[in-house]
Amino acid sequence: MAIWGLIAIEQALPRDPEKLPHVALVDASVRILRRRRWAEPLIDLLTRSNTDSVSAFKFNAADPEDLAPWKSSRVTAIGDAVHAMPPTGGQGAATAIIDADVLTERLHAAERGEATLVVAVHDSENDLRTRAAPVVRESLQPVDWIRATASPTGAFLLRTLTPLFAVGSAAAHTAAQKWRR
Ligand SMILES: Cc1cc2nc3c(=O)[nH]c(=O)nc-3n(C[C@H](O)[C@H](O)[C@H](O)COP(=O)(O)OP(=O)(O)OC[C@H]3O[C@@H](n4cnc5c(N)ncnc54)[C@H](O)[C@@H]3O)c2cc1C
Repeated sequence: MAIWGLIAIEQALPRDPEKLPHVALVDASVRILRRRRWAEPLIDLLTRSNTDSVSAFKFNAADPEDLAPWKSSRVTAIGDAVHAMPPTGGQGAATAIIDADVLTERLHAAERGEATLVVAVHDSENDLRTRAAPVVRESLQPVDWIRATASPTGAFLLRTLTPLFAVGSAAAHTAAQKWRR
């Protein structure tokens, strides 16, 4: 089984892709890849998808410079509600789980009388800001690459340079293995 996902800028997609029938979504994805001259075996993978399993949605990202900008109180939030994470980093779930862990720790400290409730929430929010902001920034990096390579020139450079990077990285890997032996 293979799972695929295509991330594209809005202008490259048909209008309101969320409302398109599944088959039309696959067709639109195939058109984008053909236009960008992706390899046919990869495009074939899309055409053989179970169309019912294909859907489209927009994703959002928080501004990493402005996380949890409110004054601490007895009410707080964690996870994507504070730092909506684009799926391009694969780190949103783990970050949300750490948020919960840190908040729980701080609440236990308050329960033990080591801090007031608001101070505990304040400490947890401070931790979240400094920990989650770099993760959002890092996860947004691929979005910048996607935008940069969306133009015909960008797409051309991507097509030309990717095989060179692949050869370079394979050579570096082989050299590193030989050196270790
Ligand atoms: C396509 C995609 C791929 C991703 N891939 C990865 C990955 O590989 N690795 C990774 O770590 N992260 C990934 N993420 C990010 C990850 O899914 C999120 O960062 C993570 O789910 C955030 O967890 P959360 O608990 O904060 O929010 P959510 O998982 O969004 O949970 C919030 C819950 O609250 C519910 N809710 C909303 N409003 C209300 C309401 N008014 N009343 C009651 N319930 C409500 C929602 O239905 C939802 O169940 C991906 C995200 C996307 C979109």
